[in-house]
Amino acid sequence: AKSRGKGTVARFEPSMRSEEIDRLELEDALRLAVRDEQITVHFQPVVDLRTGLIDGFEALARWTHPTLGHIGPDRFIPAAERTGLIRQLGRQILEQAHAGGRTLAARAGRPIALGVNLSPMQVTDETLAERVRELRDLDPEVPLVLELTEGMLLGHDLPTVAALTGLKQGGVRLAIDDFGIGYSSVGYLHRLPVDVLKIDKMFVAELHDPRSRALVAGVVAMAHAMDLSVIAEGVEDWPSATAVRDLGCDFAQGYLFSRPLPLAAAADLAAAGPFD
Ligand code: C2E
Ligand code: CA
Ligand code: CA
Ligand code: CA
Repeated sequence: AKSRGKGTVARFEPSMRSEEIDRLELEDALRLAVRDEQITVHFQPVVDLRTGLIDGFEALARWTHPTLGHIGPDRFIPAAERTGLIRQLGRQILEQAHAGGRTLAARAGRPIALGVNLSPMQVTDETLAERVRELRDLDPEVPLVLELTEGMLLGHDLPTVAALTGLKQGGVRLAIDDFGIGYSSVGYLHRLPVDVLKIDKMFVAELHDPRSRALVAGVVAMAHAMDLSVIAEGVEDWPSATAVRDLGCDFAQGYLFSRPLPLAAAADLAAAGPFD
């Protein structure tokens, strides 16, 4: 164990320092990137398993820093949450996602749903809720689906339930993201105004295991009984797509259909025919 004694602290400092500098450097760079609106979104299709048609897209944040290079959202979203930058960044992402959705719907010639990931801090952000309502009135052709992780709902405290209900009344759908990992309490589901379950890619990767298949079938049965639709995430090959379809999933998303793409490439995909 580390000693707190004066003489020994110095020995641990170099590595602690560099970690600390990395974190601060990242946060500083992020502050500038948010200020200059350098974080963009890519779009990954969500495919209807009955028709093979694209039902919508999920917006995924992307950041390429001029000197630090590509930084993944798994790194910069937590940094944005730590620093509070997530409110401003979240609004930028919502705007970009929605504007992209208009282009995608125009190219598809039909409504295109747009999934946007929300951090816990954003759920109770009244400015965001208001903007969501405005966008909804502006553009019924781009139904928004707000994606929340189970973890942030586990408490289902009153402010969260009230905020989610408010967002729903703004005309959006709510999805539970990464369903089935980390938190296994499903007790909150009937209390929250949720419309969609996204089954985490971990389960999709393990469909060769009969127990994983049983789990997916069970989740689907429960979701459908509650009138929710189900998206399987992380579908990377046709056997997986067939398996999740046979298990009753309504939609699928994953590298099989497409990686997340810049808007122009996503629009070409939206304009093309069904996957088969
Ligand atoms: P997520 O919401 O679960 O997004 C799905 C992640 O799986 C994405 O990673 C996507 O690129 C990846 N993925 C898609 N298809 C496949 C597949 O077939 N196989 C595998 N192995 N992976 C696949 P990405 O873009 O790196 O995002 C990571 C996480 O960062 C997201 O997980 C989400 O939690 C967070 N994130 C991304 N954009 C935003 C955002 O705008 N706001 C917030 N709050 N979080 C975001
Ligand atoms: Ca998501
Ligand atoms: Ca997910
Ligand atoms: Ca995730």
